[in-house]
Amino acid sequence: MTGAGISAESGIPTFRGAGGLWEGFRAEELASPEGFRKDPAKVWRWYRWRREVLAAAEPNGAHRALARLEATVASFTLATQNVDDLHERAGSRRVLHLHGEITRSRCLRDCGREVEEDPDLAVPMCGCGSPLRPAVVWFGEMLPEEKIALAFEEADRCDVCLVIGTSGVVFPAAGIPLLAAKAGALVIEVNPEETPISTACNCVLRGPAAGLLPKLLSEARICEEPVGGGGV
Ligand code: NAD
Ligand code: ZN
Repeated sequence: MTGAGISAESGIPTFRGAGGLWEGFRAEELASPEGFRKDPAKVWRWYRWRREVLAAAEPNGAHRALARLEATVASFTLATQNVDDLHERAGSRRVLHLHGEITRSRCLRDCGREVEEDPDLAVPMCGCGSPLRPAVVWFGEMLPEEKIALAFEEADRCDVCLVIGTSGVVFPAAGIPLLAAKAGALVIEVNPEETPISTACNCVLRGPAAGLLPKLLSEARICEEPVGGGGV
């Protein structure tokens, strides 16, 4: 399972770190149904800015290591809280986006139409007359049911659960490594800081993921980083 910390070294700010503010606003004020109702144009400005930051970013060594791991082991599922597409761009295939995808948008009324976003509109509109919204899960909203159910299923049956770059305070996602630990998996945390999940882990690797994860896979003789560091 991954959180915002795995993308930090790609230059994507985390929510709770020092760089997690935008024009003095807290993410919680913008990433919520109330925030969108109050000022949809402001919310869209924030998401468009985040999309630009993402478009200029590249996957790092940790994203690539997970893609290699997926290609190496028999069964692998990546549950991410990240709304960015860096896992896919690094080559990961089976990715469960528990909190949605920032590159997509959907109708606020969920009318089911295919949406095409007009970049010239401050608030892009759906063909049905309702505003479009970013296709992410906001504070106070439910997670996509099928994806979270599948993630919990995999956590319950996995042998090893890597928990990378998550503060472990956002539920239900934070329950995934806790369930894996309870079901007897080897749970390994990769995070420069202690989290509420740390005590449930069998092994804790303190440090940034882009350096530690390739090293872990190579020293455990699972897979090596290709010479030059690029590709999968
Ligand atoms: P968070 O901001 O709460 O916590 C980030 C965690 O990453 C912290 O524990 C921090 O110590 C750790 N970290 C920082 N740098 C790291 C590094 N180089 N390597 C490894 N770990 C590092 O993030 P979260 O737990 O994912 O919070 C959840 C919410 O934030 C989610 O809802 C998610 O959708 C949203 N979010 C996503 C993105 C993204 O898609 N990249 C960015 C910001 C926030
Ligand atoms: Zn619609």
